[in-house]
Amino acid sequence: FEMSSIRYKTAAFKLSCFHGPCHQRRMCRVRMFLLCLCILLGMALTLGLVLSANETNRQENISVRVPDLNNDKLTHRPSKPTAAQVKRLVSQVNWGRLWYAHLKPLLIERNPGSRGSLAVQRHISSLLDSLSAGWSVEIDSFNSETPRGPINFSNILAVLDPMAPRRLLLACHYDTKIIGPLDQKQVFLGATDSAVSCAMMLELVTALDIHLKKLKQQSAQVTLQLVFFDGEEAFEERSPTDSLYGSRHLADYMSQVPHPPASEHTTLLHAIDLFVLLDLIGAPSPTFVNHFENTARWFERLISAEKRLHNLGLLSSYSTEQTYFKKDIIMAPVEDDHTPFLQRGVPVLHIIATPFPSYLHSVEDTADKVHSDTVENLTKVLVVFLAEYLGL
Ligand SMILES: [Zn+2]
Repeated sequence: FEMSSIRYKTAAFKLSCFHGPCHQRRMCRVRMFLLCLCILLGMALTLGLVLSANETNRQENISVRVPDLNNDKLTHRPSKPTAAQVKRLVSQVNWGRLWYAHLKPLLIERNPGSRGSLAVQRHISSLLDSLSAGWSVEIDSFNSETPRGPINFSNILAVLDPMAPRRLLLACHYDTKIIGPLDQKQVFLGATDSAVSCAMMLELVTALDIHLKKLKQQSAQVTLQLVFFDGEEAFEERSPTDSLYGSRHLADYMSQVPHPPASEHTTLLHAIDLFVLLDLIGAPSPTFVNHFENTARWFERLISAEKRLHNLGLLSSYSTEQTYFKKDIIMAPVEDDHTPFLQRGVPVLHIIATPFPSYLHSVEDTADKVHSDTVENLTKVLVVFLAEYLGL
């Protein structure tokens, strides 16, 4: 007690010397207290000013930052999920769900304007509505003249966050081709053309539901859009006017809708970062090659996702000799639903099996030709691709 009392006295003496004569210990204490209080108030004031300046800057940055859609898509970088994250993400893919819940209801005739088409529209919409991510689903219906008279077509559109500046677009076609003359019509189920692709898309958003929900809550710059096209097939001979009914209609529509909403210079078409089209998937050991120089870096991500999943032992019935995504082979574009978008300058990644299955456009294109392990493996590759692109 004595020691501390001596120390206190010394301190009081020093303080009194600094501030001039001080004869009363209590006065010294009060002055010391006031001095400390002033210093604290000064510090608090400075800190407050700095913080409020930062906040003002941040708000100004947000309001001033106008998305540069063209530049932002060119400079977009994929995220780098760890091995543990990749394992967790692909473990959500469920083959049984893909096959029974998503694919089976699609394996009916789905000719444009038919009852089968309507049943499939309901199947796809109700699955998307049941997910927790909160998709905005819309049926884009329109009439078009065809060699068989006017027909009603319906694209199914689903956007995770319609207000996001940019979109990664994932598409397939759900309609089936009418085979043979009208009086001897054959039943064509189009398993690989393109029911499997549509089922894969449904499984992708189901497996990633929680992650997509978070992405939407974070108001991310890039969101996901799904398009299930109607009327890809020709009614007779394929021609510029008899085929791609749904995609021609949608590309035209998107080119007229300003985006962001009040924009004078950019439309929904500019909002598409990348148009990823799946088609003719389902046969074993498929080969996919790159069709476009300007999206080669994204095709590389598919190659690397496939390799990574194989190295992690996450692919089934798979040998390295038969890799799906082939490097350094560039093939001329194949006409498909991406064409009307490509012609308007949208970057495209066309995931179509080449060469085409031998049973293309025949009644042989049925579920028994679908190789389950291949479809599951490809779905896993796409899970990694989406997770990297969207930063899930
Ligand atoms: Zn076809």
